Amino acid sequence: MEIKCHFCFETIPLEIYVEEGEKQDFIVDCEVCCHPLHIIAEWNDEEEVFNIEVDAG
Ligand SMILES: [Zn+2]
Repeated sequence: MEIKCHFCFETIPLEIYVEEGEKQDFIVDCEVCCHPLHIIAEWNDEEEVFNIEVDAG
Protein backbone atom coordinates (compact mmCIF):
# COMPACT_ATOMS: atom_id res chain seq x y z
CA MET A 1 0.00 0.00 0.00
CA GLU A 2 1.27 3.45 -0.83
CA ILE A 3 0.27 6.99 -0.01
CA LYS A 4 1.26 10.31 -1.48
CA CYS A 5 2.77 12.93 0.77
CA HIS A 6 0.92 16.24 0.85
CA PHE A 7 4.11 18.20 1.29
CA CYS A 8 6.70 16.73 -1.07
CA PHE A 9 4.36 14.67 -3.30
CA GLU A 10 6.56 11.64 -2.99
CA THR A 11 4.94 8.23 -2.80
CA ILE A 12 5.72 6.51 0.46
CA PRO A 13 4.93 2.96 1.56
CA LEU A 14 2.42 2.41 4.33
CA GLU A 15 1.53 -0.84 6.04
CA ILE A 16 -1.92 -1.11 7.53
CA TYR A 17 -3.42 -4.27 8.90
CA VAL A 18 -7.14 -4.85 9.20
CA GLU A 19 -6.45 -6.90 12.34
CA GLU A 20 -5.63 -3.60 14.03
CA GLY A 21 -9.03 -2.14 13.24
CA GLU A 22 -11.36 -1.48 10.35
CA LYS A 23 -11.19 2.23 10.94
CA GLN A 24 -7.85 3.76 11.76
CA ASP A 25 -6.84 7.32 12.26
CA PHE A 26 -3.21 8.13 12.93
CA ILE A 27 -0.25 10.33 12.15
CA VAL A 28 2.84 9.18 10.28
CA ASP A 29 5.90 11.18 9.40
CA CYS A 30 6.76 11.24 5.71
CA GLU A 31 9.93 9.24 5.12
CA VAL A 32 11.15 11.78 2.60
CA CYS A 33 10.44 15.22 4.06
CA CYS A 34 9.54 14.23 7.67
CA HIS A 35 6.35 16.26 7.72
CA PRO A 36 3.49 14.69 9.66
CA LEU A 37 0.66 13.23 7.62
CA HIS A 38 -2.77 12.49 9.02
CA ILE A 39 -3.97 9.13 7.75
CA ILE A 40 -7.60 8.08 7.84
CA ALA A 41 -8.04 4.51 6.72
CA GLU A 42 -11.34 2.74 6.43
CA TRP A 43 -11.69 -0.90 5.48
CA ASN A 44 -13.76 -1.60 2.37
CA ASP A 45 -15.28 -5.04 2.92
CA GLU A 46 -16.47 -5.51 -0.64
CA GLU A 47 -13.14 -4.84 -2.30
CA GLU A 48 -11.04 -5.97 0.66
CA VAL A 49 -8.84 -2.93 0.57
CA PHE A 50 -8.41 0.11 2.76
CA ASN A 51 -9.82 3.38 1.53
CA ILE A 52 -7.21 5.88 2.56
CA GLU A 53 -7.43 9.61 2.98
CA VAL A 54 -4.33 11.66 3.59
CA ASP A 55 -4.46 15.09 5.18
CA ALA A 56 -1.78 17.44 6.24
CA GLY A 57 -1.03 16.57 9.86
ZN1 LIG B 1 6.92 14.27 2.23
